[in-house]
Amino acid sequence: MDLDPRYQKTQFLTSAALVSQFSQDTGHEVAFAGRSNSGKSSAINVLCQQKGLAHTSKSPGRTRLINFFALDTERRLVDLPGYGYAEVSEAQRQHWRELISDYLRRRQSLRGIVLMMDVRHPLTEVDRLLLEWNKVHQIPTHILLTKADKLSRGAALNTLAALRRELAVAYPTEVDAQLFSSLQRTGLDEAYAQLNLWLGMEPLLGG
Ligand code: GDP
Repeated sequence: MDLDPRYQKTQFLTSAALVSQFSQDTGHEVAFAGRSNSGKSSAINVLCQQKGLAHTSKSPGRTRLINFFALDTERRLVDLPGYGYAEVSEAQRQHWRELISDYLRRRQSLRGIVLMMDVRHPLTEVDRLLLEWNKVHQIPTHILLTKADKLSRGAALNTLAALRRELAVAYPTEVDAQLFSSLQRTGLDEAYAQLNLWLGMEPLLGG
């Protein structure tokens, strides 16, 4: 199995700059987070098998918003604004922190966070901040070490093992990690398995 056809129907729902603009909070939701350029849009597009889906949330004016996508009436994927743009002002950073922490704190339907980290630069300062928030709010987290094709298989596995060791100390139960490449379409089965579990979907049979 590689691509799960049930994700093909995912559609853009709405964008939010404020809690009052969030979509309805029922059913199951999984949010994608990661610093800018971590490969978040590419991962969402590959998983949903639609080239332009998450890049619509990169159009001017949308990059700092929370973007909601619907698989069906009861299941959503959420693209959280990227972080780590060097040129961003302190006021914008503060807005990002407030918007994300509001989202994490209030969202009843949130089942888990997929956190993207470039396999060559895992666990940046803001990644750690997000992991801390998830821990505080008891939100399960699944890390995709993206762009795994940029390293040799051995080096990528070493990075994964080192990350898992560090997570096991700091976040014993709520976090796991895997390798992922949108370019080579590797790691899809594992990622879908986690998404299906969180979204309350049956495993795809016959894969
Ligand atoms: P975002 O800012 O986190 O949404 O990141 P993007 O998905 O836009 O990707 C940032 C850059 O990394 C783009 O130039 C992508 O082409 C590249 N990229 C994304 N995923 C992969 C991958 O799996 N392998 C490689 N080699 N490059 C990737």
